[in-house]
Amino acid sequence: MKKSSSRKSRIKESGQTGDGQPVFAIVGRPNVGKSTLFNRLTGSRRSIVGDEPGITRDRIYGEVEWSGRTARIVDTGGIVPDDEALIPAEIFRQAQVAVQEADAIVMVVDGRTELASPDLDLARLLIRSGKPLFLVVNKIDVEALDTAAENFRRLGIKNLIAISAEHGHNIGELLDEVFAVLPFNDEPVEEAAEEEAAVEGDTQEAVHRTHGEYEQHETRLAIIGRPNVGKSTLLNALTGTTRAIVSPIAGTTRDAVDEVIDYQGQQLRIIDTAGIRRKGKTELMAEKLSVIMARRHLEAADVSLLIIDATEGVTASDATIGGYAHESGRSVVIVVNKWDLVTTGRTDGKPPAEMKIFESQVRSALKYLDYAPIVFISAAKAQKDSRSLNRVLDTAIRVAQERRKRVTTGQMNRFLERVDFQRAGVPLSKRVRILYMTQAAVAPPTFVLFTDRDVKLHFSFERFLENQIREAFGFEGSPIWFKVKARKKKSAEK
Ligand code: GDP
Ligand code: GDP
Repeated sequence: MKKSSSRKSRIKESGQTGDGQPVFAIVGRPNVGKSTLFNRLTGSRRSIVGDEPGITRDRIYGEVEWSGRTARIVDTGGIVPDDEALIPAEIFRQAQVAVQEADAIVMVVDGRTELASPDLDLARLLIRSGKPLFLVVNKIDVEALDTAAENFRRLGIKNLIAISAEHGHNIGELLDEVFAVLPFNDEPVEEAAEEEAAVEGDTQEAVHRTHGEYEQHETRLAIIGRPNVGKSTLLNALTGTTRAIVSPIAGTTRDAVDEVIDYQGQQLRIIDTAGIRRKGKTELMAEKLSVIMARRHLEAADVSLLIIDATEGVTASDATIGGYAHESGRSVVIVVNKWDLVTTGRTDGKPPAEMKIFESQVRSALKYLDYAPIVFISAAKAQKDSRSLNRVLDTAIRVAQERRKRVTTGQMNRFLERVDFQRAGVPLSKRVRILYMTQAAVAPPTFVLFTDRDVKLHFSFERFLENQIREAFGFEGSPIWFKVKARKKKSAEK
């Protein structure tokens, strides 16, 4: 099923200790293949692989499923390869993240290079932590190299597995061993939702599972997009300032600078404004940086403003960043910027662009974001004409409210009675009956479906249900997540 597999690499909100799922961390020096392994495990192809100097990946979270269990993976990130001075500090940081957050730690080394002193330092730190520890010797693409892997025993880590992340060798063995030491997932969402659903009627003893629901004083906005689409220009217009670009020492993790704006009694926090203004030195680096920044900003956001350049239309990178936004569970507003350049300010002699036509092009290029409203702006003109900014902010606030909306179980039951599932166009053999359904979480709205049998939802069924829910309840701008739970025979359990 397409949708749920794309959710495997859902990005987790930073600073959370998880939702009951066990966590394991991937650590190691740059270029040993951590991203490749991470991508292989989560099934996501989007994590950036490569060694462009000057790029620091921060932690990235993903989800892995193995033998009916799930776990979270933390990729603690890479460091600037040519900045030797920063390596010890960075290793210490990685190790700390791993030790604090993870139930098990996977240290990756490159089986085709010599052991280096940072490897020894890192191994020592990790062993001292007492957490279950695995040494993955990567890039063992051919069996002949297996003996080379043995050299890494010197690190003193007992559990050693030789793999090839790129070719997928021994990945199953690795997962078997890691899952063997991970604690069992207590499936909090489903269990709690079942309890809730078991209470007849409309009790608002709701299950508060997801971030952002309590005491939400403000909405956190992420401005994301490719280089040169106008992120900084929009930010400057929103905050009313034109500050210099903050240039941090390469490879250090700067403290993010947020700016809060008050808009019609609402507080909007634009996260990491230094990061939004940060530019890559080369085109390639700028492009990569924009994707990394997007991921990082999404982690901390409620609503993302995905900026598209009207003069270029939706590009492959826009689609990549949009894909992250979708998978992250954050709400999305698609902002088509530089509208002036394709209308009033057009210099190529062509007729002015029409919003309707442009919108349908955006929709067909970003199909998965069909729930995201689109606004057209000219950020560069926004200082003089505030309509652009109002459109962006009004939409962001509306979308933020939608994402926190809760449908009661009673409303849901009445809704279910009305829906004609025959219209879903699902083959008979794939049909499931929904016994009941409940909104287990907000932000993003997450529904637990209790079904009569244990089969995966057919894609068109899920799609149909999602559309029906949107028609009835809205949730503009927010993805909707489903969890399926086949009815348990309670009496048999006890
Ligand atoms: P990271 O910096 O640790 O995240 O490393 P990356 O995942 O970016 O990988 C660094 C380089 O090693 C990339 O060019 C990968 O294609 C390559 N690589 C990763 N895994 C393997 C592997 O199993 N075999 C080989 N031959 N190359 C690999
Ligand atoms: P960023 O890399 O996404 O932060 O993009 P910038 O904000 O640096 O903008 C890139 C270029 O596009 C700059 O030269 C801006 O002046 C220009 N630009 C941004 N927004 C608009 C707009 O709405 N209209 C026009 N004509 N130019 C714009």
